[in-house]
Amino acid sequence: MKTGDQAYIKALNRRIIIETILKDRSISRAQLSKVTGLNKATITSQINELLEEGLVEETKLDKSTGGRKPILLSLKKEAGYALGIEVDVDRIYFLITNLYGEIIQKEVLLFDTTSYEKTKKILLEKIRDYAKEYAHGSYGLVGAGIGIHGLVDQQGKIIFVIHSNWRNVDLKEDLQKEIDIPIFIDNNTNYCAYGEKTFYIHTPNILCLTISTGIGLGIIMEDKIYKGFHGFAGEIGHMIIHRDGKQCTCGNLGCWEQYASERAFLLQLAELKGKDFCTVEELVQGIQQKDSLTLHALNEFAKNLSIGINNVINTFNPETIIINSHIIPVYPYLMEEIKNYLRSSMNDYQYLLYSRLGQDACTLGGSAVVIKHFLKISDLNLAKEESDF
Ligand SMILES: [Zn+2]
Repeated sequence: MKTGDQAYIKALNRRIIIETILKDRSISRAQLSKVTGLNKATITSQINELLEEGLVEETKLDKSTGGRKPILLSLKKEAGYALGIEVDVDRIYFLITNLYGEIIQKEVLLFDTTSYEKTKKILLEKIRDYAKEYAHGSYGLVGAGIGIHGLVDQQGKIIFVIHSNWRNVDLKEDLQKEIDIPIFIDNNTNYCAYGEKTFYIHTPNILCLTISTGIGLGIIMEDKIYKGFHGFAGEIGHMIIHRDGKQCTCGNLGCWEQYASERAFLLQLAELKGKDFCTVEELVQGIQQKDSLTLHALNEFAKNLSIGINNVINTFNPETIIINSHIIPVYPYLMEEIKNYLRSSMNDYQYLLYSRLGQDACTLGGSAVVIKHFLKISDLNLAKEESDF
């Protein structure tokens, strides 16, 4: 066997072993050999290396069915830390996890600049601060995954951010010049989809709809984030659903997000109530009081959402669609209303769920990308039991 082949097989075996340990959380060497199909000598040599590297630890069980006490292997979760970041319009979300994706710390920083240089400086300072704070453990901070509300190309270069008008800026490279931990950058909805896949429902085909001021779609097909030719895939809010409809910021008329984004919904509710604007607090009040105008507006919102979701389902035939919206937690019945409008015989999907990660979806997705890269694995499965779908 050539040396190159041996190195490749060794890396492949290591990957399989780490993925299995992560999935099972704790496993004996014998079980590991059984599950992976790798022989005991390979398991022993790989585990010895992982123990030396401080990535795996042994736990002795107190009770045994007889004979020697079984020794279980698990990933040393505090060996390193991952930083997930979401750069939103007026705030930046930061989230630190250990290597199991367990949340250690969260922080929200309000900011009022659209300047690229100022934002870069803020990010640089914060990443350096976190790297200092989490320098303990064998590896310290092992990377930062940054979700951007804009278009990001295959190489992580930002093509366009509409609210700040950033065009063709290489934030990844600009940060990487100053910091020696790996930096990853992607569109926020892609990280949301990856977060849901890693922590909520582990499936190869998952779509994540983020409904906020606009509508974005994170697409994971066959276990891979799908970005399209130039990173524009998933700009689903600009799918036209009304010819000669409402003016959209993209220049077209009748885009879906002019009817089904949270912003559009709150404007429609305000219009019904003869006001200029409605807040989420007023919406909650309307729901609690069973106000007929509010319930009517929510029903229209469900109809408008289902039009686009119908089109998305018919395009991708996804196993799972996750909806991430601030409105669903205050009005969970919206999910049932949407499902009721998806009556087409062509609407084939397995699950339509609302996000359990909520606001943390993007930052958890960023953190998951970092962990996956650090452990050099291809599949990171930290999802809980699939009991409540
Ligand atoms: Zn548009």
